[in-house]
Amino acid sequence: MKGIVFDIKRFAVHDGPGIRTTVFLKGCPLQCWWCHNPESQNMQPEVCLKKISLDGMCYDKSEIIGKSMTVDEVIIELDKEAVFYDESDGGITIGGGEPLMQPKFLVQLLKSCKEKGYHTAVDTCGYAARSAIESILAYTDLYLYDLKHMDDHIHRKYTGTGNKLILENLRLLASQKRNVIIRIPLIPGVNDDEKHIGETISFLKSLGHIREVHLLPYHSMATQKYRRLEKEFKLPESGKYDQEKLKIIEKSFIENGFIVSIGG
Ligand code: SF4
Repeated sequence: MKGIVFDIKRFAVHDGPGIRTTVFLKGCPLQCWWCHNPESQNMQPEVCLKKISLDGMCYDKSEIIGKSMTVDEVIIELDKEAVFYDESDGGITIGGGEPLMQPKFLVQLLKSCKEKGYHTAVDTCGYAARSAIESILAYTDLYLYDLKHMDDHIHRKYTGTGNKLILENLRLLASQKRNVIIRIPLIPGVNDDEKHIGETISFLKSLGHIREVHLLPYHSMATQKYRRLEKEFKLPESGKYDQEKLKIIEKSFIENGFIVSIGG
């Protein structure tokens, strides 16, 4: 069984508990305006131009992003850091892109991780067939679940898809009392106003089970990647997220009984 992998990041500390290795699978059904991994969106390997400087001269170097790997080949990479997973209560996170775009590969990879005794997390945007979600339930310890906008039309405008399937799949995980951490990218002028934060809190409370939220304040550090891939970055480039606003949003979630982390 082969999948398309575009990166394997060791010693990740923001993708679930403890020290982890994160496997990034290529392909995503969404095209979020703020995506930090635009190289992940296309399912197929693609060429990216990288600037390198040598002896004061600047050159373009082409690099292929995305590599076909077997489950066994990925597991060999994951095994290299096994001692750190043990010592830190860490494990393996599989993200992307959207890992559920390669459901058969994802199931096999998760299954192999569980056979090794590794804790597993799946970082998902939730836009996947219910059958794909159901196929990973037995092998997934934790879901890092993105929630971008509660309004279907606005969601479609900024990500290219509506949110109905995403909310439905989240309801499914919550109804089964799965271990879910919600990740909310805070995008100025898109989803961080008081009304929308209130709607998000109401929705999460209605699920009755989910208690942990990670807030991911927007930054535009990925713009270089867009240039290299010759893709358009549609949001304004910006500095640090408004810290006062962040505190207010954090407080709103805490007052409603959620455990909140900023970042990862
Ligand atoms: S869901 Fe994630 S990987 Fe996919 S486009 Fe949006 S931010 Fe990028």
